[in-house]
Amino acid sequence: MSDAAQQTLLILGASGDLAGRLLLPGLGALLAGGAGKDLLLVGSARHGWDDNRWRKRVADSFAAVRARGRQVDAVIKGTRYLEADVTVEGDLRRLLDTRQGCLVIFFALPPTVTVTACRVLGGIGLPEGTRLVLEKPFGTDAASAAALNDLLARLVPEDQVFRVDHYLGMATVLNILGLRFANRMLESVLNANHVERVDIVFDESLALEGRAGYYDRAGALVDMIQSHSLQVLALLTMEAPSTLEARDFHDSKALVLRATRVWDDDPATWSRRARYTAGQADGRRLPAYADEDGVDPDRNTETFAEVVLAVNTWRWAGVPFRVRAGKALPGLRKEAVVTFKQPPWVPTGLTGYDRPDQLRIGFDPDRLSLDVNINGPADPSELDRVTLQAAFGPGQLPPYGEVLRGVLEGDPTLSVRGDIAVECWRIVEPVLRAWRDGQVPLQEYPAGSTGPGNWPLPGT
Ligand code: NDP
Repeated sequence: MSDAAQQTLLILGASGDLAGRLLLPGLGALLAGGAGKDLLLVGSARHGWDDNRWRKRVADSFAAVRARGRQVDAVIKGTRYLEADVTVEGDLRRLLDTRQGCLVIFFALPPTVTVTACRVLGGIGLPEGTRLVLEKPFGTDAASAAALNDLLARLVPEDQVFRVDHYLGMATVLNILGLRFANRMLESVLNANHVERVDIVFDESLALEGRAGYYDRAGALVDMIQSHSLQVLALLTMEAPSTLEARDFHDSKALVLRATRVWDDDPATWSRRARYTAGQADGRRLPAYADEDGVDPDRNTETFAEVVLAVNTWRWAGVPFRVRAGKALPGLRKEAVVTFKQPPWVPTGLTGYDRPDQLRIGFDPDRLSLDVNINGPADPSELDRVTLQAAFGPGQLPPYGEVLRGVLEGDPTLSVRGDIAVECWRIVEPVLRAWRDGQVPLQEYPAGSTGPGNWPLPGT
Protein backbone atom coordinates (compact mmCIF):
# COMPACT_ATOMS: atom_id res chain seq x y z
CA MET A 1 0.00 0.00 0.00
CA SER A 2 1.41 3.40 -0.92
CA ASP A 3 2.28 5.94 1.74
CA ALA A 4 -0.02 8.46 0.01
CA ALA A 5 -3.11 6.35 0.82
CA GLN A 6 -2.22 6.08 4.47
CA GLN A 7 -3.56 8.54 7.00
CA THR A 8 -3.06 9.03 10.70
CA LEU A 9 -5.85 10.60 12.71
CA LEU A 10 -4.35 11.95 15.92
CA ILE A 11 -7.02 12.88 18.46
CA LEU A 12 -5.70 15.24 21.12
CA GLY A 13 -8.07 15.24 24.09
CA ALA A 14 -8.92 11.57 23.52
CA SER A 15 -10.19 11.09 27.09
CA GLY A 16 -12.63 14.00 26.85
CA ASP A 17 -16.39 14.30 26.37
CA LEU A 18 -16.32 15.34 22.71
CA ALA A 19 -14.07 12.45 21.71
CA GLY A 20 -16.18 9.83 23.49
CA ARG A 21 -19.67 11.15 22.80
CA LEU A 22 -19.41 12.51 19.27
CA LEU A 23 -16.07 12.06 17.57
CA LEU A 24 -15.47 8.31 17.95
CA PRO A 25 -19.10 7.33 17.15
CA GLY A 26 -18.90 9.60 14.07
CA LEU A 27 -15.67 7.91 13.04
CA GLY A 28 -17.24 4.48 13.56
CA ALA A 29 -20.15 5.34 11.26
CA LEU A 30 -17.77 6.70 8.63
CA LEU A 31 -15.60 3.56 8.72
CA ALA A 32 -18.65 1.28 8.59
CA GLY A 33 -19.62 3.04 5.36
CA GLY A 34 -16.34 1.95 3.82
CA ALA A 35 -14.23 5.11 4.26
CA GLY A 36 -10.90 5.32 6.06
CA LYS A 37 -8.94 2.55 4.38
CA ASP A 38 -5.49 2.34 5.89
CA LEU A 39 -6.28 4.70 8.75
CA LEU A 40 -4.17 4.71 11.89
CA LEU A 41 -6.02 6.16 14.88
CA VAL A 42 -3.90 7.59 17.67
CA GLY A 43 -5.45 8.91 20.86
CA SER A 44 -3.71 11.12 23.37
CA ALA A 45 -4.35 12.98 26.61
CA ARG A 46 -2.60 13.43 29.94
CA HIS A 47 -4.57 10.48 31.41
CA GLY A 48 -2.24 7.58 32.06
CA TRP A 49 -4.17 5.14 29.87
CA ASP A 50 -2.55 2.31 27.93
CA ASP A 51 -3.38 1.03 24.43
CA ASN A 52 -5.90 -1.50 25.77
CA ARG A 53 -7.83 1.01 27.86
CA TRP A 54 -8.08 3.32 24.86
CA ARG A 55 -8.89 0.47 22.46
CA LYS A 56 -11.84 -0.39 24.67
CA ARG A 57 -13.10 3.20 24.48
CA VAL A 58 -12.82 3.14 20.69
CA ALA A 59 -14.50 -0.29 20.38
CA ASP A 60 -17.35 0.71 22.75
CA SER A 61 -17.95 3.95 20.84
CA PHE A 62 -18.04 2.12 17.52
CA ALA A 63 -20.36 -0.52 18.95
CA ALA A 64 -22.72 2.19 20.22
CA VAL A 65 -23.45 3.15 16.59
CA ARG A 66 -23.39 -0.51 15.45
CA ALA A 67 -20.36 0.16 13.29
CA ARG A 68 -19.05 -3.08 11.79
CA GLY A 69 -16.86 -4.16 8.93
CA ARG A 70 -13.26 -4.54 7.83
CA GLN A 71 -12.21 -0.94 8.31
CA VAL A 72 -13.82 -0.83 11.73
CA ASP A 73 -11.98 -3.95 12.88
CA ALA A 74 -8.69 -2.77 11.38
CA VAL A 75 -8.83 0.60 13.13
CA ILE A 76 -9.68 -0.96 16.50
CA LYS A 77 -6.83 -3.44 16.12
CA GLY A 78 -4.21 -0.91 15.09
CA THR A 79 -5.12 2.01 17.34
CA ARG A 80 -2.62 3.34 19.86
CA TYR A 81 -2.69 5.64 22.87
CA LEU A 82 0.05 7.99 24.03
CA GLU A 83 0.06 9.85 27.32
CA ALA A 84 1.20 13.39 26.55
CA ASP A 85 0.88 17.01 27.61
CA VAL A 86 0.41 18.92 24.36
CA THR A 87 1.86 22.09 25.80
CA VAL A 88 5.23 20.34 26.11
CA GLU A 89 7.42 20.29 23.00
CA GLY A 90 8.99 16.88 23.65
CA ASP A 91 5.55 15.30 24.11
CA LEU A 92 4.28 16.82 20.87
CA ARG A 93 7.35 15.54 19.00
CA ARG A 94 6.61 12.02 20.27
CA LEU A 95 3.04 12.34 19.03
CA LEU A 96 4.13 13.54 15.59
CA ASP A 97 6.49 10.55 15.38
CA THR A 98 3.51 8.16 15.41
CA ARG A 99 2.49 9.40 11.97
CA GLN A 100 2.06 7.02 9.08
CA GLY A 101 1.17 8.76 5.80
CA CYS A 102 -0.78 12.01 5.85
CA LEU A 103 -1.38 13.44 9.33
CA VAL A 104 -4.68 14.83 10.60
CA ILE A 105 -4.60 16.44 14.05
CA PHE A 106 -7.97 16.84 15.77
CA PHE A 107 -7.75 19.34 18.64
CA ALA A 108 -10.50 18.04 20.98
CA LEU A 109 -8.94 20.14 23.75
CA PRO A 110 -9.96 23.11 25.88
CA PRO A 111 -9.61 26.13 23.54
CA THR A 112 -6.75 27.75 25.46
CA VAL A 113 -4.79 24.47 25.42
CA THR A 114 -5.35 24.27 21.63
CA VAL A 115 -3.81 27.72 21.17
CA THR A 116 -0.78 26.81 23.30
CA ALA A 117 -0.32 23.53 21.42
CA CYS A 118 -0.42 25.38 18.08
CA ARG A 119 2.24 27.80 19.32
CA VAL A 120 4.46 24.91 20.33
CA LEU A 121 3.85 23.17 16.99
CA GLY A 122 4.98 26.39 15.29
CA GLY A 123 8.41 25.86 16.82
CA ILE A 124 8.55 22.22 15.73
CA GLY A 125 7.06 22.45 12.22
CA LEU A 126 4.54 20.04 10.73
CA PRO A 127 4.93 17.37 8.06
CA GLU A 128 3.87 18.44 4.56
CA GLY A 129 0.13 18.06 3.97
CA THR A 130 -0.87 17.97 7.67
CA ARG A 131 -4.52 18.91 8.25
CA LEU A 132 -5.63 20.62 11.45
CA VAL A 133 -9.14 20.32 12.85
CA LEU A 134 -10.27 22.98 15.33
CA GLU A 135 -13.36 22.99 17.45
CA LYS A 136 -15.62 25.81 18.47
CA PRO A 137 -15.30 28.23 20.10
CA PHE A 138 -12.80 29.54 17.57
CA GLY A 139 -11.43 32.55 19.46
CA THR A 140 -13.37 34.68 21.89
CA ASP A 141 -13.83 37.75 19.68
CA ALA A 142 -12.88 38.98 16.21
CA ALA A 143 -9.35 39.97 17.25
CA SER A 144 -8.51 36.65 18.93
CA ALA A 145 -10.05 34.67 16.02
CA ALA A 146 -7.92 36.68 13.59
CA ALA A 147 -4.83 36.08 15.74
CA LEU A 148 -5.57 32.34 15.81
CA ASN A 149 -5.96 32.40 12.02
CA ASP A 150 -2.51 34.01 11.75
CA LEU A 151 -1.02 31.38 14.03
CA LEU A 152 -2.56 28.56 11.97
CA ALA A 153 -1.46 30.17 8.70
CA ARG A 154 2.13 29.86 9.92
CA LEU A 155 1.56 26.10 10.35
CA VAL A 156 -0.35 25.00 7.24
CA PRO A 157 -2.19 26.57 4.26
CA GLU A 158 -5.80 27.63 4.86
CA ASP A 159 -7.31 24.74 2.89
CA GLN A 160 -5.70 22.36 5.38
CA VAL A 161 -7.41 24.04 8.34
CA PHE A 162 -10.83 22.66 9.24
CA ARG A 163 -12.93 24.74 11.65
CA VAL A 164 -15.75 22.50 12.73
CA ASP A 165 -19.41 23.47 12.57
CA HIS A 166 -21.13 20.16 13.13
CA TYR A 167 -24.63 21.62 13.11
CA LEU A 168 -24.70 21.92 9.37
CA GLY A 169 -24.24 18.52 7.85
CA MET A 170 -23.56 18.25 4.15
CA ALA A 171 -27.13 17.04 3.53
CA THR A 172 -28.61 20.17 5.17
CA VAL A 173 -26.34 22.50 3.23
CA LEU A 174 -27.16 20.79 -0.04
CA ASN A 175 -30.86 20.74 0.81
CA ILE A 176 -30.95 24.52 1.28
CA LEU A 177 -28.82 25.22 -1.79
CA GLY A 178 -30.85 22.79 -3.90
CA LEU A 179 -34.13 24.27 -2.74
CA ARG A 180 -32.98 27.82 -3.41
CA PHE A 181 -30.97 27.48 -6.56
CA ALA A 182 -32.59 24.63 -8.44
CA ASN A 183 -36.10 26.09 -8.28
CA ARG A 184 -36.84 29.26 -10.18
CA MET A 185 -40.24 29.57 -8.52
CA LEU A 186 -38.94 29.93 -4.95
CA GLU A 187 -35.72 31.79 -5.56
CA SER A 188 -37.44 34.58 -7.45
CA VAL A 189 -39.48 35.55 -4.38
CA LEU A 190 -36.72 35.23 -1.79
CA ASN A 191 -35.90 38.95 -1.57
CA ALA A 192 -36.99 42.17 0.11
CA ASN A 193 -39.78 42.73 -2.44
CA HIS A 194 -41.66 39.69 -1.21
CA VAL A 195 -40.30 38.72 2.20
CA GLU A 196 -41.58 40.39 5.38
CA ARG A 197 -39.15 38.78 7.80
CA VAL A 198 -37.04 35.70 8.45
CA ASP A 199 -36.80 33.84 11.78
CA ILE A 200 -33.95 31.45 12.52
CA VAL A 201 -34.82 29.46 15.62
CA PHE A 202 -32.76 26.99 17.62
CA ASP A 203 -34.88 26.11 20.67
CA GLU A 204 -34.22 23.05 22.78
CA SER A 205 -35.72 21.53 25.92
CA LEU A 206 -32.28 20.42 27.10
CA ALA A 207 -30.88 22.43 29.99
CA LEU A 208 -27.28 22.60 31.13
CA GLU A 209 -26.79 18.80 31.20
CA GLY A 210 -23.65 19.02 33.34
CA ARG A 211 -21.74 21.28 30.94
CA ALA A 212 -21.46 24.35 33.20
CA GLY A 213 -17.67 24.44 32.78
CA TYR A 214 -18.07 25.31 29.12
CA TYR A 215 -21.53 26.85 28.85
CA ASP A 216 -21.35 29.29 31.75
CA ARG A 217 -18.49 31.05 29.98
CA ALA A 218 -20.18 30.95 26.57
CA GLY A 219 -23.96 31.47 26.83
CA ALA A 220 -26.57 31.12 24.11
CA LEU A 221 -25.29 33.96 21.93
CA VAL A 222 -21.79 32.56 21.56
CA ASP A 223 -22.69 28.87 21.82
CA MET A 224 -25.35 28.96 19.11
CA ILE A 225 -25.88 32.27 17.33
CA GLN A 226 -22.27 33.32 16.72
CA SER A 227 -21.56 29.94 15.20
CA HIS A 228 -24.46 27.88 13.91
CA SER A 229 -27.28 30.40 13.37
CA LEU A 230 -25.10 32.74 11.33
CA GLN A 231 -24.07 29.83 9.09
CA VAL A 232 -27.76 29.17 8.42
CA LEU A 233 -28.35 32.87 7.79
CA ALA A 234 -25.55 32.85 5.23
CA LEU A 235 -27.04 29.85 3.42
CA LEU A 236 -30.44 31.52 3.27
CA THR A 237 -29.20 34.88 2.05
CA MET A 238 -26.13 34.18 -0.12
CA GLU A 239 -26.17 34.61 -3.88
CA ALA A 240 -25.91 31.46 -5.96
CA PRO A 241 -22.33 30.20 -6.15
CA SER A 242 -21.48 29.06 -9.65
CA THR A 243 -20.15 25.73 -8.35
CA LEU A 244 -20.33 23.91 -5.04
CA GLU A 245 -16.57 23.84 -4.76
CA ALA A 246 -15.34 25.08 -1.42
CA ARG A 247 -13.88 28.34 -2.72
CA ASP A 248 -17.03 29.46 -4.59
CA PHE A 249 -19.26 28.36 -1.76
CA HIS A 250 -17.22 30.12 0.94
CA ASP A 251 -16.86 33.27 -1.17
CA SER A 252 -20.65 33.56 -1.50
CA LYS A 253 -21.11 33.02 2.23
CA ALA A 254 -18.40 35.52 3.14
CA LEU A 255 -19.92 38.25 0.96
CA VAL A 256 -23.27 38.11 2.63
CA LEU A 257 -21.90 37.83 6.16
CA ARG A 258 -19.79 40.94 5.53
CA ALA A 259 -23.08 42.73 4.77
CA THR A 260 -24.72 41.56 8.01
CA ARG A 261 -25.00 43.69 11.14
CA VAL A 262 -27.24 44.34 14.11
CA TRP A 263 -30.45 46.09 13.07
CA ASP A 264 -29.98 49.90 13.06
CA ASP A 265 -26.56 49.24 14.64
CA ASP A 266 -28.50 49.38 17.89
CA PRO A 267 -27.85 46.28 20.00
CA ALA A 268 -29.43 47.86 23.09
CA THR A 269 -32.79 47.86 21.29
CA TRP A 270 -32.43 44.89 18.97
CA SER A 271 -31.05 42.20 21.22
CA ARG A 272 -32.38 40.55 24.34
CA ARG A 273 -31.15 37.94 26.77
CA ALA A 274 -32.67 35.82 29.51
CA ARG A 275 -31.96 32.82 31.72
CA TYR A 276 -34.31 30.15 32.97
CA THR A 277 -35.65 29.87 36.49
CA ALA A 278 -36.86 26.58 38.03
CA GLY A 279 -39.58 24.78 36.11
CA GLN A 280 -40.54 21.69 34.17
CA ALA A 281 -39.32 21.06 30.62
CA ASP A 282 -40.11 17.92 28.63
CA GLY A 283 -41.44 16.20 31.75
CA ARG A 284 -38.30 16.90 33.78
CA ARG A 285 -38.06 19.13 36.82
CA LEU A 286 -35.23 21.62 36.30
CA PRO A 287 -33.53 23.83 38.89
CA ALA A 288 -32.98 27.49 38.07
CA TYR A 289 -29.94 27.98 35.84
CA ALA A 290 -28.36 30.12 38.54
CA ASP A 291 -28.61 27.15 40.96
CA GLU A 292 -27.10 24.57 38.60
CA ASP A 293 -23.83 22.93 39.68
CA GLY A 294 -20.79 24.86 38.51
CA VAL A 295 -22.70 28.02 37.50
CA ASP A 296 -21.53 31.39 38.78
CA PRO A 297 -24.82 33.38 38.90
CA ASP A 298 -22.91 36.67 38.95
CA ARG A 299 -21.54 35.95 35.50
CA ASN A 300 -25.08 36.65 34.21
CA THR A 301 -24.80 34.04 31.51
CA GLU A 302 -27.85 33.91 29.26
CA THR A 303 -29.58 30.66 28.32
CA PHE A 304 -31.74 32.48 25.78
CA ALA A 305 -30.55 35.04 23.25
CA GLU A 306 -32.35 36.85 20.48
CA VAL A 307 -30.96 39.37 18.01
CA VAL A 308 -32.44 41.18 15.02
CA LEU A 309 -30.00 41.44 12.14
CA ALA A 310 -29.99 43.31 8.85
CA VAL A 311 -28.40 41.98 5.69
CA ASN A 312 -27.48 45.11 3.79
CA THR A 313 -27.53 43.89 0.21
CA TRP A 314 -29.73 44.87 -2.73
CA ARG A 315 -31.64 41.60 -2.25
CA TRP A 316 -32.27 41.79 1.49
CA ALA A 317 -32.05 45.42 2.71
CA GLY A 318 -35.02 46.22 4.97
CA VAL A 319 -35.85 42.61 5.90
CA PRO A 320 -35.39 41.84 9.61
CA PHE A 321 -33.69 38.53 10.38
CA ARG A 322 -34.67 37.51 13.89
CA VAL A 323 -32.23 34.94 15.20
CA ARG A 324 -32.90 33.19 18.49
CA ALA A 325 -31.53 30.30 20.49
CA GLY A 326 -32.53 29.04 23.90
CA LYS A 327 -32.41 26.21 26.40
CA ALA A 328 -35.07 24.71 28.68
CA LEU A 329 -37.83 25.67 26.27
CA PRO A 330 -40.90 23.49 25.65
CA GLY A 331 -39.44 21.35 22.89
CA LEU A 332 -36.98 20.98 20.09
CA ARG A 333 -37.51 23.56 17.37
CA LYS A 334 -34.75 24.07 14.84
CA GLU A 335 -35.98 25.86 11.79
CA ALA A 336 -35.77 28.87 9.54
CA VAL A 337 -39.11 30.49 8.75
CA VAL A 338 -39.50 32.87 5.83
CA THR A 339 -42.67 34.94 6.24
CA PHE A 340 -43.85 36.51 3.01
CA LYS A 341 -45.52 39.89 2.73
CA GLN A 342 -49.27 40.02 2.57
CA PRO A 343 -50.74 39.98 -0.92
CA PRO A 344 -51.38 43.57 -2.10
CA TRP A 345 -55.08 42.86 -2.20
CA VAL A 346 -57.19 39.81 -1.31
CA PRO A 347 -60.20 39.93 -3.66
CA THR A 348 -63.44 41.00 -2.00
CA GLY A 349 -65.52 37.87 -1.71
CA LEU A 350 -62.71 35.69 -0.33
CA THR A 351 -62.98 35.61 3.45
CA GLY A 352 -60.92 34.34 6.34
CA TYR A 353 -57.47 35.62 5.29
CA ASP A 354 -55.50 36.09 8.45
CA ARG A 355 -51.87 35.12 7.93
CA PRO A 356 -49.33 35.48 5.13
CA ASP A 357 -47.76 32.43 3.52
CA GLN A 358 -44.64 30.97 5.11
CA LEU A 359 -41.81 28.77 3.97
CA ARG A 360 -40.34 26.64 6.76
CA ILE A 361 -37.03 24.86 6.52
CA GLY A 362 -36.73 22.43 9.41
CA PHE A 363 -33.30 21.22 10.52
CA ASP A 364 -34.24 18.46 12.94
CA PRO A 365 -35.83 16.65 11.24
CA ASP A 366 -34.77 18.04 7.87
CA ARG A 367 -38.12 19.00 6.41
CA LEU A 368 -39.61 21.55 4.06
CA SER A 369 -43.05 23.01 4.74
CA LEU A 370 -45.01 25.60 2.85
CA ASP A 371 -47.96 27.13 4.71
CA VAL A 372 -50.41 28.57 2.19
CA ASN A 373 -53.96 29.88 2.14
CA ILE A 374 -56.34 27.97 -0.10
CA ASN A 375 -60.09 27.74 -0.49
CA GLY A 376 -61.57 25.57 2.23
CA PRO A 377 -63.46 22.32 1.76
CA ALA A 378 -66.83 23.53 3.09
CA ASP A 379 -67.43 27.09 1.94
CA PRO A 380 -65.17 27.69 -1.10
CA SER A 381 -65.08 31.44 -0.49
CA GLU A 382 -63.63 30.86 3.01
CA LEU A 383 -59.84 30.57 3.04
CA ASP A 384 -58.17 27.77 4.99
CA ARG A 385 -54.57 27.31 6.00
CA VAL A 386 -52.87 24.19 4.68
CA THR A 387 -49.31 22.95 4.93
CA LEU A 388 -47.54 21.27 2.03
CA GLN A 389 -44.73 19.18 3.41
CA ALA A 390 -41.79 17.19 2.11
CA ALA A 391 -38.94 15.46 3.89
CA PHE A 392 -35.46 16.44 2.79
CA GLY A 393 -33.08 13.58 2.20
CA PRO A 394 -31.49 12.71 5.53
CA GLY A 395 -27.72 12.62 5.73
CA GLN A 396 -26.08 9.22 5.55
CA LEU A 397 -23.74 9.99 8.43
CA PRO A 398 -24.06 11.50 11.89
CA PRO A 399 -22.73 15.09 12.06
CA TYR A 400 -19.23 14.16 13.21
CA GLY A 401 -19.07 11.43 10.58
CA GLU A 402 -19.56 14.19 8.00
CA VAL A 403 -16.98 16.42 9.68
CA LEU A 404 -14.42 13.60 9.59
CA ARG A 405 -15.34 12.60 6.05
CA GLY A 406 -14.54 16.15 4.89
CA VAL A 407 -11.27 16.16 6.81
CA LEU A 408 -10.05 12.75 5.67
CA GLU A 409 -11.00 13.49 2.05
CA GLY A 410 -9.42 16.96 2.23
CA ASP A 411 -12.73 18.63 1.33
CA PRO A 412 -13.11 21.90 3.29
CA THR A 413 -16.67 22.67 2.06
CA LEU A 414 -18.25 22.12 5.47
CA SER A 415 -15.45 23.78 7.37
CA VAL A 416 -15.75 27.43 8.39
CA ARG A 417 -13.15 29.48 6.49
CA GLY A 418 -10.93 31.74 8.58
CA ASP A 419 -12.34 35.07 7.37
CA ILE A 420 -15.89 33.81 7.95
CA ALA A 421 -15.08 32.84 11.55
CA VAL A 422 -13.81 36.39 12.17
CA GLU A 423 -16.84 37.92 10.44
CA CYS A 424 -19.24 35.99 12.69
CA TRP A 425 -17.53 37.43 15.77
CA ARG A 426 -17.66 40.91 14.21
CA ILE A 427 -21.44 40.58 13.82
CA VAL A 428 -22.14 39.63 17.47
CA GLU A 429 -19.48 41.79 19.14
CA PRO A 430 -21.67 44.92 19.49
CA VAL A 431 -24.26 42.76 21.27
CA LEU A 432 -21.69 41.26 23.63
CA ARG A 433 -20.42 44.77 24.41
CA ALA A 434 -23.91 46.16 25.05
CA TRP A 435 -24.64 43.24 27.39
CA ARG A 436 -21.34 43.66 29.22
CA ASP A 437 -22.07 47.37 29.66
CA GLY A 438 -25.47 46.57 31.20
CA GLN A 439 -27.46 48.19 28.36
CA VAL A 440 -29.71 45.13 28.01
CA PRO A 441 -31.33 43.68 31.16
CA LEU A 442 -31.03 39.94 31.81
CA GLN A 443 -34.65 38.73 31.82
CA GLU A 444 -35.92 35.47 33.31
CA TYR A 445 -38.27 32.76 32.07
CA PRO A 446 -39.50 29.62 33.83
CA ALA A 447 -37.94 26.43 32.42
CA GLY A 448 -40.48 24.82 30.10
CA SER A 449 -42.16 28.13 29.20
CA THR A 450 -41.88 29.67 25.74
CA GLY A 451 -39.16 32.06 26.92
CA PRO A 452 -39.41 35.76 27.68
CA GLY A 453 -42.58 37.47 26.42
CA ASN A 454 -43.29 38.84 22.96
CA TRP A 455 -40.84 41.12 21.28
CA PRO A 456 -42.03 43.45 18.54
CA LEU A 457 -40.06 43.47 15.32
CA PRO A 458 -38.80 46.63 13.61
CA GLY A 459 -41.67 48.54 12.05
CA THR A 460 -44.42 46.73 13.98
P1 NDP B 1 -13.23 17.89 28.00
O1 NDP B 1 -12.83 18.80 29.12
O2 NDP B 1 -14.22 16.81 28.27
O3 NDP B 1 -11.92 17.19 27.41
C1 NDP B 1 -10.72 17.89 27.20
C2 NDP B 1 -9.64 16.90 26.83
O4 NDP B 1 -8.41 17.61 26.69
C3 NDP B 1 -9.42 15.81 27.84
O5 NDP B 1 -9.15 14.61 27.16
C4 NDP B 1 -8.16 16.27 28.58
O6 NDP B 1 -7.54 15.13 29.08
C5 NDP B 1 -7.40 16.92 27.43
N1 NDP B 1 -6.39 17.89 27.85
C6 NDP B 1 -6.55 19.00 28.59
N2 NDP B 1 -5.37 19.65 28.76
C7 NDP B 1 -4.43 18.90 28.10
C8 NDP B 1 -3.04 19.03 27.89
N3 NDP B 1 -2.34 20.07 28.40
N4 NDP B 1 -2.41 18.09 27.17
C9 NDP B 1 -3.09 17.05 26.66
N5 NDP B 1 -4.41 16.87 26.81
C10 NDP B 1 -5.08 17.78 27.52
O7 NDP B 1 -13.71 18.86 26.81
P2 NDP B 1 -14.69 18.49 25.61
O8 NDP B 1 -14.32 17.16 25.08
O9 NDP B 1 -16.08 18.72 26.03
O10 NDP B 1 -14.37 19.65 24.56
C11 NDP B 1 -13.21 19.67 23.76
C12 NDP B 1 -13.34 20.77 22.73
O11 NDP B 1 -14.49 20.51 21.90
C13 NDP B 1 -13.59 22.16 23.32
O12 NDP B 1 -12.98 23.12 22.50
C14 NDP B 1 -15.10 22.31 23.24
O13 NDP B 1 -15.49 23.66 23.19
C15 NDP B 1 -15.39 21.61 21.94
N6 NDP B 1 -16.74 21.11 21.81
C16 NDP B 1 -17.23 20.19 22.69
C17 NDP B 1 -18.50 19.68 22.54
C18 NDP B 1 -19.05 18.67 23.48
O14 NDP B 1 -20.23 18.31 23.31
N7 NDP B 1 -18.28 18.18 24.43
C19 NDP B 1 -19.38 20.13 21.42
C20 NDP B 1 -18.75 21.06 20.53
C21 NDP B 1 -17.49 21.52 20.74
P3 NDP B 1 -6.48 15.12 30.29
O15 NDP B 1 -7.05 15.97 31.37
O16 NDP B 1 -6.33 13.67 30.62
O17 NDP B 1 -5.26 15.68 29.70
